Amino acid sequence: MAIRRSATKRHGLPATVQLRLTPAPTQVDALAAAVLLCNQAATVVSRLAWQHRVFTVLELHRLAYCEVRAQVAGLGAQAAVRAIARVAGAYANRRASKKRAHIFRPHGAVPYDARLLQVALTLPKPAVREPDHGFVGVDQGVANLAVTCDGAVLPGPALSGPIDGNGHVRTLRERRHRQRRRLQAKETAAARRVLRRLAGREHRMMTDLNHQISTFVVREAERTGRGVVLEDLQGIRGRVRVHRLQRRTLHTWAFAQQIAFTRYKADRAGIAFVLVDPAYTSQTCPDCGHVSRANRPARGRFICTRCGLAGHADHIAARNIATRGAAGWAAINQPHATGLPSPRRDRESKPPGFNRQ
Ligand SMILES: [Zn+2]
Repeated sequence: MAIRRSATKRHGLPATVQLRLTPAPTQVDALAAAVLLCNQAATVVSRLAWQHRVFTVLELHRLAYCEVRAQVAGLGAQAAVRAIARVAGAYANRRASKKRAHIFRPHGAVPYDARLLQVALTLPKPAVREPDHGFVGVDQGVANLAVTCDGAVLPGPALSGPIDGNGHVRTLRERRHRQRRRLQAKETAAARRVLRRLAGREHRMMTDLNHQISTFVVREAERTGRGVVLEDLQGIRGRVRVHRLQRRTLHTWAFAQQIAFTRYKADRAGIAFVLVDPAYTSQTCPDCGHVSRANRPARGRFICTRCGLAGHADHIAARNIATRGAAGWAAINQPHATGLPSPRRDRESKPPGFNRQ
C-alpha cells in the first residue's frame, strides 16, 4: 500500500514523500477492518445526506456526526469527520445525476489524512563538509535580488536585467507598487479585494524567486566545494543606522525568507552556512580594505578612492561577504587559532516558515 503525504509547513519546505506500508499480518487485518468501518460510516452519512437533502460539509457535520458515531461502533472522531468530508465531496460533483443515495463500496479506497495517519519523519542531517575552496558570498538587493561574489545576477537569465539595475523584477515590482497606490486611494471594497489578490500574487512570485535563487546558490557551492554566506539581517535591528535593505521595509520578509531557504537547502546538502555582520559591506574595498562612503560615487557603482578598484556595488559587496564568511567559519571552527573577532554563531537551523511579516 503506497501512501502519498505532503509535508506540512511546520516540517519545512513542502515535499512529497512516498511511503510504502509494510504491515505485519495482524496489522493487515486491522487495516482492512478500518477500511470496512470507514466505508460503512461513509454510506451511513450518505444516506442521511440524501434523506435530508443536506450536502455541505458544515451542515452535514451538524446532521450526521453524532448519528454516525452512534451507528458505527468503534468509529473514531477523526474518521467520522473524514467520512462526512468524503460524502460532501462525492455529492459535490455528481449530485444532479444521482437517483438514490451514493453507496460506498466496502473495500473502496479510504483517504487518510495527516491526523488519521501520524507520520513523523526525521531526515538524517548530513555532516557538513569543510568548505575547502572558500565561500559563495551572496549580496541581497532591491534592484538585483541577489548577486554572488562570482558576479552571477540572480534569479537568472529569465528574470535578471543588466547588473546596473532596472532588471525585469524591479520593473515588475515597481509596476505593482504604483498599482497598489492607485487601489489604496480608492478605498472601496472591490479595491481592497484586488489588493489582497495582488498581495498574494506578489508573495507567491517572491517565494518562487527565492526558491530559484537559493537552489542556484547552494548547487553552485556544492559544485565548487565552497560554503554559503549571506548577510545577517536579523542582527541589524536596533542599530542606529538602518541597513540599505531595510530602508524600504516592503519586502523585508522576502530577504528573511531567502536566508531561511538558503540555510535549509545548505543544511540538507551538507554545505557550510554562515551569516555575517552586514556593516559596511558595500563601502569596503575587497582588494585593499579601505572603508569609505566616498567609495560609492553613484548608486550601483563602486570605485575605491585609495587603490582605484572599480566594479558594480552589489558584486563588490558579495566579495566582501564571501571574505567575511571564510573568516567567520575559521573563527567558529578554530576559535583559539585566530585572532579574529568571534562572529555570531548561527542559530540552530530550523526549517523556514512561510509567514508574511
Ligand atoms: Zn581599494
